[in-house]
Amino acid sequence: MTEVKRLSYYVPVSTEMLAQADELAAAFRAALVAPPPTAEQKRAAAARRAQELAAAVARHETARTQLSGRLVDVLDLHRPQLPEYALWLQCHGCEAEGYDAEPPRWPCTTWCVAAGQQA
Ligand SMILES: [Zn+2]
Repeated sequence: MTEVKRLSYYVPVSTEMLAQADELAAAFRAALVAPPPTAEQKRAAAARRAQELAAAVARHETARTQLSGRLVDVLDLHRPQLPEYALWLQCHGCEAEGYDAEPPRWPCTTWCVAAGQQA
């Protein structure tokens, strides 16, 4: 024979509290479910991403022309990248540890030190 144990609670709930809970749940749903972006919004976002990446690549190229030897290699390893899934520029040259680790934002500290620039 299997014995099933249940925790028992007694939580007094008034009709007003239930109504408030429904209102809160509706407010959360409304806040969490945003309408999908329009085609124009998607084009604008893609243009912003391309512009951001182009500016970062230009900054990177300018910095690397002022360096030589191994510093160019270091800079190239830590170059700006913007994968499709990423929300911001990333450095894939830095170690990202842990199963859920994300690459750091670009410019990373290593790139800044090698280029002699501030983030
Ligand atoms: Zn880096």
